Amino acid sequence: MPGLSAEMKIHGEPRVDQRLATETILIVEDEPKTASLVALYLEREGFKTVHAADGQRALGLARQYTPCFVILDLMLPQLDGWEVCRELRRFSDVPILILSAREDEFDRVMGLSLGADDYVVKPFSPRELVARVKAIRRRVRLQLTRAPTVYTHGELVLEPEKRKVTRGGKAINLTPSEYVLLQVLMAVPGRVFSRQELLDHLYPGGDSVVDRVVDVHIGKLRQKIEPDPAYPSYIVTVRGIGYQFADSEG
Ligand code: CA
Repeated sequence: MPGLSAEMKIHGEPRVDQRLATETILIVEDEPKTASLVALYLEREGFKTVHAADGQRALGLARQYTPCFVILDLMLPQLDGWEVCRELRRFSDVPILILSAREDEFDRVMGLSLGADDYVVKPFSPRELVARVKAIRRRVRLQLTRAPTVYTHGELVLEPEKRKVTRGGKAINLTPSEYVLLQVLMAVPGRVFSRQELLDHLYPGGDSVVDRVVDVHIGKLRQKIEPDPAYPSYIVTVRGIGYQFADSEG
């Protein structure tokens, strides 16, 4: 049918972030032996590395290279690791792993509250350090590529991550049961759900509840979301079976 288009769609595109822009890791460490050992292990894994032996130079290199990761020693000449961390966070979201000589809970809390992502106490195993770097990068990449899912149909918008439903920009208050039903239906427009299927979503434990419960919730849901609840156009009754969400704006 011309003119009818599937309005329901999943929005959101993977975002590109400067944290993934390069494969260069900035190593900030004033002990040459530690710095070159860390560099060796990271380069074996295919990373490029740049090295700063003091805090001032670290900030300069961070601006110059836009590294994908920073390994940051705390005890440094000039600016110390705390200051570097704080300054870095003014212009960059780059993951930061802190190296410290002191196994001190205060350090840990401070490091994480300054925006560091992880913390390793010296002496450390370079192998473990590399594993941590890779784990953090995986986590960051996952966060960045997971597109937020939003279901829309005409003016009706359901945002699962916020557990929020709006129509024409106005928030609609739904009970938990109403919300579950709407999300299940909106996620697959045009698909017919039997009352039993919808019940299974409402009561995953399999409690035996009369299936008219679904009709009652759907009725209330329609009062809240339908432009004209007497003639529902969003949630459509499929006679003898159950319900479906309209797959076009008819
Ligand atoms: Ca040091």
